[in-house]
Amino acid sequence: MINAQKLAGLIRESHHIVALTGAGISTAAGIPDFRGPNGLYVTRRYDPEKTFDIDWFDREPRTFFVFARDFLSTLDHVQPTQGHTFLAELEQQGLLQSVITQNIDGLHQKAGSRNVIEVHGSFQQGHCRKCGHGYSYKELKHKILTEEIPHCDHCDGVVKPDIVFYGEAVRGMDEAESETRHADLFLAIGTSLTVYPAAMLPQFSGGPVVSINRGTMGELIRGMESIEGDIDEVFAEVRSILSPSL
Ligand code: ZN
Repeated sequence: MINAQKLAGLIRESHHIVALTGAGISTAAGIPDFRGPNGLYVTRRYDPEKTFDIDWFDREPRTFFVFARDFLSTLDHVQPTQGHTFLAELEQQGLLQSVITQNIDGLHQKAGSRNVIEVHGSFQQGHCRKCGHGYSYKELKHKILTEEIPHCDHCDGVVKPDIVFYGEAVRGMDEAESETRHADLFLAIGTSLTVYPAAMLPQFSGGPVVSINRGTMGELIRGMESIEGDIDEVFAEVRSILSPSL
C-alpha cells in the first residue's frame, strides 16, 4: 500500500502516464457498475447475461433497448468525477498520454480527455447490424428514444450502438498494449483487474503500476502498488499536493 503523497511523487517524475479506468471511476458520478456484481444483478431490473449478449440481441433486441433508454436518460445528467477531471488535467499538462477505459459512459471526453481508447466501445455512434450504415450519436439517440427497436433508414436492420457486447471482440487492444509498453507510470483506476482485457494490460507497463480502487487488491501483478480508498478523495488529495504545478 502506498499513499497519496507517494502517488503524487510518482506522477511528478513521469511524462508518459497511461491510465486504465473501470466502472469504479464513474460510480461517484451516479453511473451504476452495471456489468459488475453490484450492478444489474442486485437491482434485477435488467439481466446482464441477456442485455449485453450479442446473440440474444440479434434474436430479441428489445431487451437491450429497454436498458438503453434508461441509460441514455441517465447519461444526460451525469457529470465527470474528480478522477475524470484530474486525468484530463494531466493530459493537458502533457504528463498523461492516454486513457484506456472499459466504461461506455463518455465521461472522460466530457471531462476534456482527448486520447481515450474505449475497449468496450461507446454510445457515441452506432451501426446497422444488416447493412452497416453508420449513425451519429444524435441520430442514434433520437432513434432509441422514439422507436421501441431502432431500425435502419436504408434497410430493415436493427441499429446497435457501438458498445462491445459479450461475444464481441474488445477494441483498440493493439493501441492499448502499445501505449502501455511506453508508459513510465501505469494507473489502474476503479478496476478490479480481474477481467480481460484489464487483467493482462498492467504486465506490459514500462513503468510502475499503481492501482487506485475502493476494494482490496493485493499484489495481482508483481511489484504493483495500490491505494485502497475512495477514488475521488484520493485524487483530490493528490491534486492538492501537486498544485500549484498543476
Ligand atoms: Zn441498414
